[in-house]
Amino acid sequence: MPEGITMGENGLKVPDEPILPFIEGDGIGPDIWRAAQAVFDAAVEIVYGGGRRIAWHELYAGETAFKKTGEWLPQETIKGFEEYLVGIKGPLTTPVGGGIRSLNVTIRQTLDLFACLRPVRWYRGIPSPIRTPHLVDMVIFRENTEDVYAGFEVEEGSDEAARLRGFLGQEYGWHLRPDSGIGIKPISVEGSKRLVRSAIQYAVTFGRRSVTIVHKGNIMKFTEGAFRNWGYEVAREEFPQQTVTWDECGGEPGDRILIQDVIADAMLQQVLTRPANYDVIATTNLNGDYLSDALAAQVGGIGLAPGGNINYVTGHAVFEATHGTAPKYAGLDKVNPGSVILSGANMLRYLGWRGAADLIEAALEAVIADRIVTYDLARLMRYSTEVKTSEFGEALVEKMPIIERYAAMSGTRRAPSHIRAYM
Ligand code: NAP
Repeated sequence: MPEGITMGENGLKVPDEPILPFIEGDGIGPDIWRAAQAVFDAAVEIVYGGGRRIAWHELYAGETAFKKTGEWLPQETIKGFEEYLVGIKGPLTTPVGGGIRSLNVTIRQTLDLFACLRPVRWYRGIPSPIRTPHLVDMVIFRENTEDVYAGFEVEEGSDEAARLRGFLGQEYGWHLRPDSGIGIKPISVEGSKRLVRSAIQYAVTFGRRSVTIVHKGNIMKFTEGAFRNWGYEVAREEFPQQTVTWDECGGEPGDRILIQDVIADAMLQQVLTRPANYDVIATTNLNGDYLSDALAAQVGGIGLAPGGNINYVTGHAVFEATHGTAPKYAGLDKVNPGSVILSGANMLRYLGWRGAADLIEAALEAVIADRIVTYDLARLMRYSTEVKTSEFGEALVEKMPIIERYAAMSGTRRAPSHIRAYM
């Protein structure tokens, strides 16, 4: 019987047949969604042998919704995500002009999805601009609701800007150039603590080694610096048994999670030169934006980068392809469905269905290692076979029984590389 997911005292309560809302998305959305849905269903069927299945529930947003209902983001769609807690979406056309806000931002704000989850790891065979992409295996927790993205801005030359400048001059003695636009950067205790708490909890649940707080606190002491301090406070007060700081352990954390912090500009160097030193990353909104795209590029571009926006308190989560609608490829069955497929794998992991999530990732890795790829990777990889979106999905499904047989013998779906070559 299909049932909704609910939030219990100890986290999500997921029935064996959860109702999961999805939005196909605009442009290439239907192409990548068709391939991805077949991959999700096959993985769940293979791992749980019919004991679990997903009851998909379609919702509409973007251009498709506008054509059907006259609205870009129907109330029913928001209600669907509110009611069923966890869902997934393809890319949406951002309406231009007319005062309509970005649909993605509206969904995030309405459901208060405060953590943007961006796992970044390399898949064997994908061309990378760095020499050691295999050392990149990080999970970024980017704060999603505050910072310079909060929307508190006034335009240069406007009355609001003049009034604000006057007030700042009179009350604070802060004198800004008269031709300035002004933005405000709020960083709160609650906003920071709930983000860092989620990152540490993720590290505990998934056995990760460290959580690095990334900030620019050397310059912005009361916002970025405070984020860092509140982060350490959460670790000290709420995870005293599971975490340890660098000062306490001299870089030898044993089986505890190392809590450390790095200044944002240094971090952009560190992820290039010493990627193996970093694991889970907790950071503010703007730093997180830069860092997620820089890291995605290190492992082969955003075509494969998964994403999710989560409120770990209420349980609400919307996973999503991180690229756009690429309208010139719409309906051609051509583009890479990897981003939405990996986002779905992270959704299954969030539901506690780790087996199915691992199987999807292992299948994707095995298919790419066979050099079976869509056009975007084919143009970068020598001796590869270019396939369509649907064929790429089918290749993943074909790999699954082989990986599962190996997992039954070895206890892991991540085979060592000399065995992966025969899968
Ligand atoms: P885009 O749709 O991401 O496309 C830019 C280019 O990225 C494409 O031309 C293609 O490169 C490559 N690409 C994107 N997705 C791909 C995939 N799955 N497989 C292979 N290659 C892929 O960015 P855009 O053209 O700036 O934006 C188009 C629309 O999408 C806009 O309305 C924008 O607002 C919206 N958008 C939505 C989201 C979202 O909903 N999350 C995110 C970003 C943008 P090549 O041309 O080199 O082949």
